[in-house]
Amino acid sequence: TSMAKTFKYIIVGGGVAAGYAAREFAKQGVKPGELAIISKEAVAPYERPALSKAYLFPESPARLPGFHVCVGSGGERLLPEWYPEKGIELILSTEIVKADLAAKSLISAAGETFSYETLIIATGSTVIRLTDFGVEGADAKNIFYLREVDDADKLYEAIKAKKNGKAVVVGGGYIGLELSAVLKLNNIDVTMVYPEPWCMPRLFTADIAAFYEGYYANKGINIIKGTVAVGFTSNSDGEVKEVKLKDGRVLEADIVVVGVGGRPQTALFKGQVEEDKGGIKTDSFFKTNLSDVYAVGDVATFPLKLYGELRRVEHVDHSRKSAEQAVKAIKAAEDGKTVEEYDYLPYFYSRAFDLSWQFYGDNVGDTVLFGDNEPASPKPKFGTYWIKDGKVVGAFLENGTPEENSAIAKVARVQPPVADVDQLAKEGLSFASKI
Ligand code: FAD
Repeated sequence: TSMAKTFKYIIVGGGVAAGYAAREFAKQGVKPGELAIISKEAVAPYERPALSKAYLFPESPARLPGFHVCVGSGGERLLPEWYPEKGIELILSTEIVKADLAAKSLISAAGETFSYETLIIATGSTVIRLTDFGVEGADAKNIFYLREVDDADKLYEAIKAKKNGKAVVVGGGYIGLELSAVLKLNNIDVTMVYPEPWCMPRLFTADIAAFYEGYYANKGINIIKGTVAVGFTSNSDGEVKEVKLKDGRVLEADIVVVGVGGRPQTALFKGQVEEDKGGIKTDSFFKTNLSDVYAVGDVATFPLKLYGELRRVEHVDHSRKSAEQAVKAIKAAEDGKTVEEYDYLPYFYSRAFDLSWQFYGDNVGDTVLFGDNEPASPKPKFGTYWIKDGKVVGAFLENGTPEENSAIAKVARVQPPVADVDQLAKEGLSFASKI
């Protein structure tokens, strides 16, 4: 049996949060051999959102090392060799299968033991699979999910192999919308299926969704709403052939892509650390109830100061910022200092075709639509404000300039009062620009 490898700091998980944490460690000063990142993936941390976008483009698709962190936030790219240069150990293709937080040790699938003084949990999310619900035939070949670069490679191969074929996209969230667009760009015939009355129902209003659904329809994407996939048939090679819908319809498919949500990967730590709202509960410094264990990114349920409640956020901007906050807090604590509480303004975005939207704040309360949301407009530009207790608390904008996007971010942060809702609708973006 081999000896445990010991580190002062271990980050378990090698995704977005891990990469941004590593950069912050390097900034704050870390000695050679103090920090290790242990990742199940075979590659250094990268900007995961690229996988459903430029990674699948028909022409000059994005490939590693082009989108390693921290390019997504406009920072310097941390190439795989950056880690050893900084004395950071990048332990790849290594899945942790057991964590003993009391003993401060982790065990890998290959049986290696790693010990730490301080642990940062950055295991992210895993996709929800149709096989989890026992959907008939859901284990057929060419039914894809998308979380890691390996998944994207398999999907890319299938797109090339099934030239001009048919795809069914299950799910109407941002993964479903982005993948449908990129499949269409690859000249695949696309049908989207989702049970809700409109796409992205957790964020979009009916008016917002109507624009995107109309735009997708104009691009030739078929949308089937109000039903779900209940089974798949396959050909003699075991490849998916048909998708059976609950409403009785049957769709032909060479490729199926499923985007029905994710769940935080917390199973390793069950019963060892406090949880809340499906994630690992932390304070404003991403410290858990154990003083030597932190949790960042998708797995963290943290105090969202602006709204006075605990939230879990599965978006890239938060994964970056929470990672930086945790490392700053860890380093400050070593010097007997503190850092300011995390004060996050929720920010989500998506891009597909020539479209690009941003959302800031909270999508609660009444809504006001402004601008041109006609799908066939040559230059559609529109937005929505969410108003709660007489204040604007959230703002969405399609096709904003950087200045306009900053303006809606500011509105969501400042929460200005609204005297007259009709007036707000008329003013539209200029309301935000005045704040
Ligand atoms: P991840 O980046 O998922 O990293 C987790 C890492 O931990 C992975 O490397 C995983 O392999 C590893 N791991 C897990 N368990 C173990 C284990 N037991 N042992 C070792 N390693 C382990 N957000 C947006 O805001 N905008 C977008 O446009 C957007 N697009 C996205 C597109 C796709 C295809 C996906 C999948 C996500 C997208 N997101 C987007 C969400 C965003 O990528 C995540 O919120 C972000 O990656 C979370 O960072 P994280 O570090 O917490 O987790």
